[in-house]
Amino acid sequence: MKAGIHPNYKKVMVTCACGNTFESGSVKNEIRVETCSECHPFYTGRQKFAEAGGRVDRFNKRFGLKQQ
Ligand SMILES: [Zn+2]
Repeated sequence: MKAGIHPNYKKVMVTCACGNTFESGSVKNEIRVETCSECHPFYTGRQKFAEAGGRVDRFNKRFGLKQQ
């Protein structure tokens, strides 16, 4: 690599909206994210977007189906 033409890639602390922080590499001084591996439903297994009270729940109640 030629010196001087590349951004200074360094370690930064990434701060998530859930309060979790982790280290990553970036040219920025600070990174803020809304979801991380600690709180994203895909990783946690939580069904954040399909909770009771939604369209699926109403459908299940109407047709007498049990929720899984
Ligand atoms: Zn998070």
